[in-house]
Amino acid sequence: MEHVHDYLIIGAGMAADAAAKAIREVDPAADVGLVGDETSAPYQRPPLSKGLWKGDKSLADVDLATAASGASLHLGRRIESLDRLTHVARDDRGDTYRYRRLLLATGATPRRLPFEGGKRLIHYRTLADYQALHGFAQPGAYIAVIGGGFIGCELAASLASLGCKVSLLFPGELLGAGRYPDGLARFLTEYFAHHGVDVRAGAQVTGSNPTDGGVELSLSDGSLLRVEAAVAGIGVTPNVALAEQAGLAVDNGILVDAQLRSSDPDIWAAGDVANFHSVSLDRRMRVEHEDAAVSMGRHAGRAMAGVAAEYVTQPFFYSDLFDLGYEAVGLLDTRLEVVEDWREPNREGVVYYLDGGRVRGVLLWNTWDQVDAARALIAEPGPFDAASLRGRLPRSA
Ligand code: NAP
Repeated sequence: MEHVHDYLIIGAGMAADAAAKAIREVDPAADVGLVGDETSAPYQRPPLSKGLWKGDKSLADVDLATAASGASLHLGRRIESLDRLTHVARDDRGDTYRYRRLLLATGATPRRLPFEGGKRLIHYRTLADYQALHGFAQPGAYIAVIGGGFIGCELAASLASLGCKVSLLFPGELLGAGRYPDGLARFLTEYFAHHGVDVRAGAQVTGSNPTDGGVELSLSDGSLLRVEAAVAGIGVTPNVALAEQAGLAVDNGILVDAQLRSSDPDIWAAGDVANFHSVSLDRRMRVEHEDAAVSMGRHAGRAMAGVAAEYVTQPFFYSDLFDLGYEAVGLLDTRLEVVEDWREPNREGVVYYLDGGRVRGVLLWNTWDQVDAARALIAEPGPFDAASLRGRLPRSA
């Protein structure tokens, strides 16, 4: 079967949804089609590790209602090839999609542990993964969380709050090492333990075996851990295979220009998969967070519909960990010069990351409504130092 869409979006995540809505805002009669390999319509991803577990949100709340914007959804289909000359994409069932303008919002794929563990070892990314984990994670169930990054920390906190017994296994010494200053990383690691999480720093999972009603993990110290389910969040890789097959410029993601257009003038890219030039940080980067997906999707959609502008947003990100929370902008990297400014040590304050007198990152730890101020600071040429930064953001509230 042949489908024809003026605007075709490959991918059906948050960037795709934002783009579809933006196209229709600019051009209310636009024919927009989305093709996604998940069977669910686009949904909010952050609640999968946060709000859905707290009961703050239901499955109905996370639905983004993309179809209501007028876009046609082709779900449960994977685009396998793209012919840029004829402007035709082909899916895994042989259907073709002819387009005038195309957005690649193909997202990312979770890295997998190098062994199989059956249905009770979940590499966490999608709504289906949430549903699978939810089925195993009854209060009292024993769940192993593998990886100490965003997914690992948020899920460990969510599952422990739900009453599960949680072991958090990660290879490093401290949670957030390399991202947070040492004292904060130490505090956070102890904070998880204080909240009942069995924190296993330095733990590597070397194998797993499905058991009756569970999974048995082999650890690098030779021990075995038998749990009802294990969930891994060990990073993602951008889905660039289609872009590569089509001959687009790719280098740690699909390379896009200031308008988020790829090396083909009729193809844009947005979200986890897009490698853009950050104006305020003056470097190319990919950002794997909600705000990047939504702001880039929206920007690309508008650009595809004819509204030319440069993408100058520096995306922010945020996390919730028990009763702690933060927002952040830019690079959180302790190899930079780190300036800590606490109102209450490790509980409330701001951490600045500097490079040659310029602010490259700002961590707003339990400090709210400062994201735009942090963005403005990162855009300023400086020079800044510890003395000029202390007290700066909270006082400007
Ligand atoms: P992540 O935040 O990049 O963390 C992955 C962690 O897994 C890293 O700490 C990494 O350690 C560790 N790791 C790598 N290989 C491992 C292994 N074999 N065994 C154990 N640990 C291993 O990625 P994620 O938590 O999987 O999240 C996936 C994506 O979703 C990320 O892009 C993330 O930004 C996004 N996400 C964002 C949010 C948010 O914005 N709040 C929430 C959830 C997910 P090293 O660093 O030492 O390699």
